[in-house]
Amino acid sequence: MTGAAPGVADVPGGRLRALLERPATGTSGTPAAAESAEDERCDLCAEPVPEGHRHMLDVQQSSVLCTCGPCSLLFGQSTAGGRHYKLLPERRTSLEGFRIDGMLWARLRVPVGLAFFVRDGASGEVGVGYPSPLGVTRSAVGPEDWEELARGYPELAELADDVEALLVHRSDGADEHWIVPLDDCYRLAALVRTHWRGLSGGPEVREHIEAFFAGLAGPSPRSRTS
Ligand SMILES: [Zn+2]
Ligand SMILES: [Zn+2]
Repeated sequence: MTGAAPGVADVPGGRLRALLERPATGTSGTPAAAESAEDERCDLCAEPVPEGHRHMLDVQQSSVLCTCGPCSLLFGQSTAGGRHYKLLPERRTSLEGFRIDGMLWARLRVPVGLAFFVRDGASGEVGVGYPSPLGVTRSAVGPEDWEELARGYPELAELADDVEALLVHRSDGADEHWIVPLDDCYRLAALVRTHWRGLSGGPEVREHIEAFFAGLAGPSPRSRTS
């Protein structure tokens, strides 16, 4: 009766997309802080969502939705209204000792030192995305290249289709490899897009990237509720 939900169904993923387009909030925040706008609402039912809420992938639209608790239970792994939803997992695992050979990296043709790899559940193909000042650029990874990259790392064979990524950070001498939920990749892309200056990105974006990876090693913003 009171304040009927607006037509949020028309703008799936609006919150995270807005995050990608939103200017910097000022102070150098953690990824979690960057998303803590007080007007954040569930993209499915329009109820306000707390900081540290779960996200869900609309598989067909490739859009990430902010999700309240009840909706994540209701739609977490379902097909509703012609759409296929998958709840994003929460684990973040650092792949210690993982290396990507320089020749293989060159073959992948990723022009920057940041990239994330995701397996498409429908086709089984692995794609690579990398953040840029213009957003996320994607290309396909040859099956033999992925095989070479993942050899000896069973964790990578177990990546959840569509919703989990191998995140690689090898810019500025870094050498980090993580299994993360897809929304982390979107947060990183938002940081790059927001803080990139000039041709090379500049010191500000590098600081934000460092803070992002330092934050991955810390406790998940959601874990405090468990
Ligand atoms: Zn909801
Ligand atoms: Zn959200």
